[in-house]
Amino acid sequence: MSLQSQSSPEAQKYDIVIVGAGPVGLMLSTCLARWGYKIKHIDNRPEPTQTGRADGIQPRSLDLLRNMGLKSPLMAHKPARVYEVAFWDPAKEGTGIARTGTWASCPSFIDARYPFTTLLHQGHIERVFLADLAKHNVEVQRPWTIKGFTSNEAENPEYPVEVQLEHVDGKASETLRAKYLFGGEGARSFVREQLNIGIKHKDPIEHVWGVMDGVVQTDFPDIQMKCTIHSEHGSIMVIPREDNMVRLYIQIASSTDPDWHPRKTATAEDVQASAQRILQPYTISWERVEWYSVYPIGQGLGDRYTLDCRVFLGGDAVHTHSPKAGQGMNTAFLDAQNLAWKIHLVEAGFADRSVLQTYEQERRQVAESLLDFDNRYAKLFSQRPTAASEAEAALKKKDTGSSEGENAFIKAFKEACEFTSGYGVAYQPNVLNWSPSHPARSPVINPTGSTLRTGRLLINANVTRVVDANVVHLEQEVPMNGSFRIFVFAGKPSVTAGALTDFANKLQSKDSFYMAYQRPDQDQVSYHEQHNPHSLFFTFCTIFSERRSNIEISRHVPSLLARYRAHIYADDQWDRRMPDAKAAAHAKAGLDEEKGGVVVVRPDGYVGMVAQLVEGSGTVDALNEYFGAFTTKKLGQKLRRDRRRIEDRHTSVEVKYDRGLSIRVHANHTAKHRKEVNKPRRDTEPISVPDFPFLALFNNRNSFIDQANVFTSLHLNTLTLDFHFPLLWLPQPFQISRFVKTTGPFSSNALFSSSSSVLRGTYDELLSR
Ligand SMILES: Cc1cc2nc3c(=O)[nH]c(=O)nc-3n(C[C@H](O)[C@H](O)[C@H](O)COP(=O)(O)OP(=O)(O)OC[C@H]3O[C@@H](n4cnc5c(N)ncnc54)[C@H](O)[C@@H]3O)c2cc1C
Repeated sequence: MSLQSQSSPEAQKYDIVIVGAGPVGLMLSTCLARWGYKIKHIDNRPEPTQTGRADGIQPRSLDLLRNMGLKSPLMAHKPARVYEVAFWDPAKEGTGIARTGTWASCPSFIDARYPFTTLLHQGHIERVFLADLAKHNVEVQRPWTIKGFTSNEAENPEYPVEVQLEHVDGKASETLRAKYLFGGEGARSFVREQLNIGIKHKDPIEHVWGVMDGVVQTDFPDIQMKCTIHSEHGSIMVIPREDNMVRLYIQIASSTDPDWHPRKTATAEDVQASAQRILQPYTISWERVEWYSVYPIGQGLGDRYTLDCRVFLGGDAVHTHSPKAGQGMNTAFLDAQNLAWKIHLVEAGFADRSVLQTYEQERRQVAESLLDFDNRYAKLFSQRPTAASEAEAALKKKDTGSSEGENAFIKAFKEACEFTSGYGVAYQPNVLNWSPSHPARSPVINPTGSTLRTGRLLINANVTRVVDANVVHLEQEVPMNGSFRIFVFAGKPSVTAGALTDFANKLQSKDSFYMAYQRPDQDQVSYHEQHNPHSLFFTFCTIFSERRSNIEISRHVPSLLARYRAHIYADDQWDRRMPDAKAAAHAKAGLDEEKGGVVVVRPDGYVGMVAQLVEGSGTVDALNEYFGAFTTKKLGQKLRRDRRRIEDRHTSVEVKYDRGLSIRVHANHTAKHRKEVNKPRRDTEPISVPDFPFLALFNNRNSFIDQANVFTSLHLNTLTLDFHFPLLWLPQPFQISRFVKTTGPFSSNALFSSSSSVLRGTYDELLSR
């Protein structure tokens, strides 16, 4: 390592600087490295995690790791797999503890490919990522730390972030320029502190726990199961691990203790003695202790994940909670994945920069749910007698199928299972997750019967790949390549032949979402390229509701879709969740088994939009509308709107729709309006911009819709207000009844009274005027 400063007047340029090589930083780096980004990744530790920390990979994360090709190297470590949780409580007769029930770790109502938690040391997990990074020539620079940064887009629009890095011994330093900076340095994030982003804590710290990893000798029968054990001597959670190890979480102190103190601690020997008492009548002794730590439990959530969509935070830097439900690392993975593909789509020139705002919107909401759940879970865990009896009731219910005993604990437990498995994530509507208020208004969107929910993961389905008759997992067929996955459920070939041909033809129109983003190097693309032969942003899969032997690609599949020959499937596999369906994948998605439908899945596997597969241009038009709401180019006919002019009694309004609503209001600046404007003015008085720093839009129920900067000018008697609402979509039907001068959404100085409705109707009407 050079001991001299490596800063230079012409700073080195990177796409991103990632600080912290824990789960969040490594996932982000691994994704972006695969897509060819130039990364500077640092960590202040000299080596990856040696002992302790996270060990539980949840089912959804395992799907993701498989999708990235990282599941096999993880499984090579022979991790423990937790299929069931056992509840142990004070024995009803005699002394000591007894098992009172068990419950599936990932119950069958969750459609998981891997219905178990994988337990493996965080260090092994980190090394799997590091090996993958090395394949893409990215190395984590250790032990280096961050000393400072600035971000100024106005000064340097391309590389707005300047970052100062330093070797931890202080003798070498570097100054870099980057497009992005990511703070993934865990709970004590330097980047978060520099941005002055606060952490809100849910409750004061209420529990102190010890955690011990080691190899034990014991006659406790469930030592290779996950167990929650409550006894008159205290509580323990048992987590089996790889290499004959076991992790014990042991409650050391609780806020209900008479001598409660959040800094209370205990030695490893104290904790072992406590474990021996709790496990009676069973015995336990330690061959070796690998790691022991004491930690207080509190739930904290960052106020923001970014301030300028250039410097981002993720993982423990913005959310912390108890480790017992095994969520932190898993949530960190999904934070990073969510940000990675959005940065990719923006930097690759596909998506408007504003999609980066959806990172905080989506992931902060997940963290909020996680903290709520964690808070409840911690409380339920401490209500031990209730928990035990209710777990027993839960067990009975499972056995008998009765709904008796369905109570708060069981409900919470079930919810927890969906949540902790990772399948409970449901992103709210936004420009990526279609809803009725999305700008895409085509009537073919959201076909009746579809059970797919936008913002949720695509269903799992087994299908037969036509070219090699392999039965495959449809949702895993497209690797995490940063592309949208377009699943064309093509129904019965005899029914959909026309619609499929029209779909493929229309995709080839010059202004379709597909043609607008073609690879420039198509001529050089290998014949064997399966996923992105034409465009780096889309991979197509075509699934027929037909037996494999009846599908002939050259006859049934239009040539554009046939180019994705490894992605043509027969929906001919029986599914126990759809025992009567002829085409289970179609049926699981709620799509007509004969007529099919088209499902747009985001690069992270969440459903973005569903449309009917119809003859004519309707399906591609709908996809153009959906993508056109956030792409950098204009797509299709509908969005190429001319300026439209509508008149009303008081005003004329020009409306332009182009990935957002631009409105120019010409108001007759008459005496009547003067009364409605706060300060009476002379007709000729110029109105300066600061007079109207923002205008807010309200709907006809007086609910705030959005606000925008306004540019005003006054010419003769005409007051002109120009404002633009990027990516705005309005409730349907809507009526903009007030323009309000405001410094925030809810202040109210009405510029026009509510009687002066200048815009009303539906989006479609507005666009067709
Ligand atoms: C006892 C325990 C058990 C847990 N069990 C689980 C579990 O089973 N499942 C689960 O999902 N989660 C679990 N967690 C939580 C999990 O460990 C964290 O949520 C997860 O590690 C967060 O990942 P991260 O990348 O955000 O942060 P970290 O893992 O904290 O990584 C941050 C990295 O940044 C580096 N760093 C810090 N500051 C700087 C700096 N200034 N400059 C450079 N580098 C810096 C650190 O050295 C570290 O490598 C557990 C946590 C604990 C404490």
